[in-house]
Amino acid sequence: MRFSDSFVTTLRDAPKDAETVNHKLLVRAGFVRQLMAGVYTYLPLGQRVLNKISQVVREEMDAIGGKEVLMPLMHPKENWVKTGGWDKIDVLFHVKSRTDKEYALAQSHEEVVTPLTKEFIRTYKDLPLSIYHIQWKFRDELRSKSGILRGREFLMKDLYSWHLTQEDFEEFYKKAKEAYLKVFKRLGLTAKVTEASGGGFSEKISYEFEVLTSAGEANILYCSKCDWCVNIDDIDKYKEGDKCPSCKDDVLKHSLASEVGNVFDLGQKYTKAFDFKVQNEKGEMVYPIMGCYGIGITRTMGVIVEKFHDEKGIVWPKEVAPFDMHLVGLNGKGEELYNKLKENNIDVLFDDRDVPAGQKFADADLIGIPVRLVVSDKTGEKIEYKKRTSDETKLIDFEELIKMP
Ligand SMILES: [Zn+2]
Repeated sequence: MRFSDSFVTTLRDAPKDAETVNHKLLVRAGFVRQLMAGVYTYLPLGQRVLNKISQVVREEMDAIGGKEVLMPLMHPKENWVKTGGWDKIDVLFHVKSRTDKEYALAQSHEEVVTPLTKEFIRTYKDLPLSIYHIQWKFRDELRSKSGILRGREFLMKDLYSWHLTQEDFEEFYKKAKEAYLKVFKRLGLTAKVTEASGGGFSEKISYEFEVLTSAGEANILYCSKCDWCVNIDDIDKYKEGDKCPSCKDDVLKHSLASEVGNVFDLGQKYTKAFDFKVQNEKGEMVYPIMGCYGIGITRTMGVIVEKFHDEKGIVWPKEVAPFDMHLVGLNGKGEELYNKLKENNIDVLFDDRDVPAGQKFADADLIGIPVRLVVSDKTGEKIEYKKRTSDETKLIDFEELIKMP
């Protein structure tokens, strides 16, 4: 993509109302614009990052047998009344039509996916089943000042699973947990799993996936030898330096963390609400056990920015960067290299603008693509190569460049 034709505009200053690093940097670097508190437009660079994160999540959900669908954002009130959510969930947006009919805006999708699945599942032979989608959600937040970390409108992957028995759910949960840890590792993040109370969803247990970052809002204790982790905001059973209660191989360390995913054991709450029964091996009609597994896509993008940035701008991990390389052309150069990179399927942002070199370099640092290339009168036939994470530059030729990891 050519910078001159990219719809990207960088800003010297962050918006006055921006309080968090992700809000400031994502606006300044031209990834997002805020429409109103907690509601953002994703510009071409931002949309590319969302697509990359979504694709990693999609691949790992497909790998555990998830089937991708797309469910609507506007739901009939009746479905939410059936589960009690219409009155009990205070962040649920209620919408009235001109004929006074009421609807809910998707805050989650149990109220849609449960009656949908009921239509297709008849016997235990159809179980287990897991389906997911990557779709927007709405939450009527009173305070939305965390940039894209906690929006009133946000993109989420939510997967739902159905099981004949609790044991089968537990087994699937183990697979989902491994898939989640893979997702976060691929995104360049270190995630830990904590057990937490079920909140508004159910009385059953839930699991939170926390990414270690100094910008996080949760206090956790974790073990670096195994995956044991606990949220210590409301317990005093454990403290820093205690021996790990699970592997006993290391002492517990403290960290701030951001929640990027969660799993809820929904039990039979939703299958009972929609009278969704299946026939078991004995021919009896029983309510399946249900699980819900979320990953905040836009939130994860915000957490990545909070974790990976420096005083010059964002430092995207390779897998989610909007482009593989950022080509800075000086003295009218770069056209030939741009075309050669594209021919070699390298995703490149080519800064072909007629602006001072200093501005091009500052923008490259601000946008944060992992590799910066410069061609100018000074570099001659060679290409100057620099990683965003390093100050070191080297002159290489094209053959060396395309062999770089
Ligand atoms: Zn341990």
